[in-house]
Amino acid sequence: MRITQLSRKNIQALTPYQSARRLGGKGDIWLNANEYPLSPDFDLQHRTFNRYPEAQPEALVQAYANYAKVQPENVIVTRGGDESIELIIRAFCENDDAVLYCPPTYGMYAVSAETCGIACKTVPLTEEFQLNLPEIERQLTGVKVVFVCSPNNPTGTLLKRSDLTKLLQITAGKAIVVVDEAYIEFCPESTMATELATYPHLAIVRTLSKAFALAGLRCGFTLANKALIDVLQKVIAPYPIPVPVSDIAVQALSEQGLSQMQANVSEVITQRQWLIEQLKTLPQVEHIFDSNANYLLVKFTDGQKVFQHLWDQGIILRNQHTALGLANCIRLTIGTAAENQRVINAIQHI
Ligand SMILES: *Cc1c(COP(=O)(O)O)cnc(C)c1O
Repeated sequence: MRITQLSRKNIQALTPYQSARRLGGKGDIWLNANEYPLSPDFDLQHRTFNRYPEAQPEALVQAYANYAKVQPENVIVTRGGDESIELIIRAFCENDDAVLYCPPTYGMYAVSAETCGIACKTVPLTEEFQLNLPEIERQLTGVKVVFVCSPNNPTGTLLKRSDLTKLLQITAGKAIVVVDEAYIEFCPESTMATELATYPHLAIVRTLSKAFALAGLRCGFTLANKALIDVLQKVIAPYPIPVPVSDIAVQALSEQGLSQMQANVSEVITQRQWLIEQLKTLPQVEHIFDSNANYLLVKFTDGQKVFQHLWDQGIILRNQHTALGLANCIRLTIGTAAENQRVINAIQHI
């Protein structure tokens, strides 16, 4: 018997997440994974590794709680925001339940649900990339977790706060609402963390991978009320956070680390504005979508051609051509000034 036939049916049918790294490419300019283009420096403080780490490193939980303006009991640390997404599904969904999400959006909601054998319902975003609340309400039967992403990946759109509170109202007592705030540092005033006191079924996914420039660290968080956090504590692995990870994460959340992150954010926003102005002048560009994050979604007259042309030159972007409603669109991460200049030059010379 072939090994694959021994694996679970839903795993046999599963298409793994097409991560930027898996998609490959021979690049010297990587603008396809929404990373920060430069790495901060750290010194490892802990130099002994013979003991297991704390299950939830206290100093890190406290530091993130301070940063997010919540209590430590409202925080669980995970291996990247991606593990937060999967933990919520594993903890809350059983066989006949479904998750609901709103494409075009982040691919991991579907992949995590499928991995767990949980059905997916989709309610596409409106033309303005906002929630279609009447349709979501109609589709809620059997739904245990609703995933929304704000700012949304790959569109860059912020969901309207009034829509998010309406969503929390229509799901109360029925489903968990996960607001994915992977990019919230680029528009911190829009966080839903301030609503935690009102909504026991709200969970917020965060990460150090984007504005904190630590994608290689694999450190994320879920923020929620204690009862929800306690459920996630039951299913998370016993020692999920390696000692060097919490060590560096605590430094990233120090006063100095936070001001470095804020400087990163300002630089990205300056560069984003520069890119928008340059892109506007290019005949190949059909539309630049408003972005509240460290990437731009751009519609080209022939997106496939632009993507391939830049790929061949070692400039690796994220093609969105097959995403719902995003034909000819490319998501490009804001890079350094020099990288952004090369992107513009390369498009000019097509
Ligand atoms: C990057 C990202 C995450 C989480 O990334 P991790 O590296 O696993 O922390 C979650 N959601 C969205 C929308 C993202 O873009």
